[in-house]
Amino acid sequence: MAENNKQENLDPRVISQQQFQRAISHLKNMKAGLIDFLNSPKRTVSVCFPIEMSDGSVSSFHGYRVLHNSAMGPGKGGIRFHPELTQQEVTALASLMTWKCALLNVPFGGAKGGVICDSKALSENELRRITRRFITELSQNIGPHTDIPAPDMYTNEQTMAWIYDTYDVLYPGHNNRSVVTGKPIDLGGSLGRREATGRGCMNATEQFLSHGLIDGLKNLKGARVVVQGLGNVGGVAARLFAKQGARIIAVSDSQGGIHHEEGIDMDAALAFKKQHGTIVGLPETLTLTNEDLLQLDCDILIPAAMSNQICAHNAHKINARLVVEAANAPTTPMADDILYARGIPVLPDILSNAGGVVVSYFEWVQNNQNESWELDIIEHKLKRKMVYAVDTVVKRWKQLEQECQQACGKELRSDLRTTAHMIAIERVARVTLERGIWP
Ligand code: NAD
Repeated sequence: MAENNKQENLDPRVISQQQFQRAISHLKNMKAGLIDFLNSPKRTVSVCFPIEMSDGSVSSFHGYRVLHNSAMGPGKGGIRFHPELTQQEVTALASLMTWKCALLNVPFGGAKGGVICDSKALSENELRRITRRFITELSQNIGPHTDIPAPDMYTNEQTMAWIYDTYDVLYPGHNNRSVVTGKPIDLGGSLGRREATGRGCMNATEQFLSHGLIDGLKNLKGARVVVQGLGNVGGVAARLFAKQGARIIAVSDSQGGIHHEEGIDMDAALAFKKQHGTIVGLPETLTLTNEDLLQLDCDILIPAAMSNQICAHNAHKINARLVVEAANAPTTPMADDILYARGIPVLPDILSNAGGVVVSYFEWVQNNQNESWELDIIEHKLKRKMVYAVDTVVKRWKQLEQECQQACGKELRSDLRTTAHMIAIERVARVTLERGIWP
């Protein structure tokens, strides 16, 4: 890693605090105590529990559930199983969820949780026991109207089914389906949920381009697109961007990337990945590293894998005209500065990957009403939410750019991320005050 990286603190909590502070610096007249409240987790639950493993041994596991803020409604956020999970990371991701829900106007607060474990090394039975025991330990800290989990890294529809079933056994006699979203369809899951984040990302990008802020690129037709991370989000996004006329010139997964300037056939690529477990080796493509992939000359770069992929050491080598964050926190604050100075806008995660939580909200509404909506209705409602959020951010961004230039030359500035955070923070602050400081 280059020298720049030594100065860069990649602690997720530090990064989320920096993003919060940047937004707050533009928001005048907010009381210090209110700022502190908005910046702090409301509740952190930390649990440790034993599990009998398949070989008869006993292992202990640690898990967390952080409810960052519930002013707008019950907490909402995923549960991940990961060996490197930390309380700081869960706390940072919970606050990101607060701002994401507020920005998209869904009536939820932010939350996140997880268990420290290597799911790839665990059997299905062990994963089921971990899930059930974790949910039992969390007990009333989750609930259909208090805090509603969802899938995240290395948890899936099956995990959500176990969560629902465990909660329903603990609290029988109620309609408990809305305690968790991302469930299998026949257990109350929503049509369109699996595709929602990638679809919302496509909707957000199209709407952003329609504002004409990128020279000569008013829609996706002919746009040269690079996608890092061909998983659930990246795979769907790549397919939908291609359907709208974009040319997907490079994609990657954890094993590496492939490049084909004339455009990759995404149906063939996804079928190849399903068969071989990786995209690397797709006929008629050049193989390249993930590092090189990020630096390819393109119109739109979509990081859709992990956090901190665009950082101080490679931001000056990014050759895209627009970065669209499908992953959570793929760009560090130092990289934000570098990209801003180079005139490369970043459509931020709390906007461009919010499609998942929007359709999770639709799932929750359907469960509470014992209804099942049709796919075209869900896609239409999702698009409206994404379009409205993008328009709101772009409008405010233009105002702020003007204010900054008038007030202090070009020194103070606002990027799209700061603008999106400002809108979200203002909404949560307003609702907190409308509810009235208690008692
Ligand atoms: P996933 O596990 O389905 O896919 C991740 C993909 O990234 C895989 O193809 C994996 O091979 C690849 N990958 C891993 N390490 C990589 C690396 N170093 N370089 C390149 N590729 C790498 O996960 P997902 O659900 O698609 O989530 C991806 C990102 O999107 C995460 O940051 C997640 O938090 C975020 N996100 C997901 C959702 C959702 O609804 N799934 C919603 C919002 C945000």
